[in-house]
Amino acid sequence: MANILFDQLVFGPIKSRRLGVSLGLNLLPTKLKVCNFDCVYCECGKNKNNSDIQALPSRLEIRNALETKLCDMMLAAEKIDVITFAGNGEPTLHPEFEGIVEDVIFLRDAFMPHVKIAVLSNATNLDKVSVFDALNRVDLNILKLDSAINRTYQVLNRPNGNKNVCDIIQDLKRFKGKFILQTMFVSGWVGNVEVDNTTDEEIENWVETVRELNPSRIMIYSLDREPAELGLKKVSAAKLNEIAAKVKKYSYKVLVTS
Ligand code: SF4
Repeated sequence: MANILFDQLVFGPIKSRRLGVSLGLNLLPTKLKVCNFDCVYCECGKNKNNSDIQALPSRLEIRNALETKLCDMMLAAEKIDVITFAGNGEPTLHPEFEGIVEDVIFLRDAFMPHVKIAVLSNATNLDKVSVFDALNRVDLNILKLDSAINRTYQVLNRPNGNKNVCDIIQDLKRFKGKFILQTMFVSGWVGNVEVDNTTDEEIENWVETVRELNPSRIMIYSLDREPAELGLKKVSAAKLNEIAAKVKKYSYKVLVTS
């Protein structure tokens, strides 16, 4: 099985493990992953040298592609649950992210007002006012935090930039709980470095951070497809449920996908 890159701006609908029937929106190049993380579990593979980076699609191209697709789906009476900003990297890196969110809300209201809009983001750009404001407007603002311990964050997410995990947590606090927290749990090896964000120390810190952030919901999951680093292992459903129980006891709603 190979890593996946989406070759269209609008893709699917696909059956998402967490979101239902999802129409995907890719704001990034169609032949290259663009992300300021290089997560060891990324399904798009490892980051490449950006010297051959394709131009990002324009706001207008994305709007036109989505409008055409929604129009076709409406005529075919095809139903979806959600339009999801996902694709080949981090959607908030697109310089027109806020305007694109505005267009997607407009088109959703015009064609399929019952459908939700979701953004899957790595939470690194929350200090940009335009990104923060745009994320506050979507129905499902799903933000990543895989570890509350900086050394694990560095190994798992391999961030490109000088933010540490404390900076990310401070940025997440600005939503005052109006977001969904997503955490990928994995264990195994990255080269000769062992990684495991399911240890007692990890979970204790993660639970404490969940309680500080107070998200409206939590999504936890493990590997589903081939990760960028092949030495990683999927965490069992039993372990994920054990982790979920540690925050459910504080009345958090947790979706476990295994
Ligand atoms: S944030 Fe998402 S797209 Fe970026 S490297 Fe991690 S998993 Fe891949």
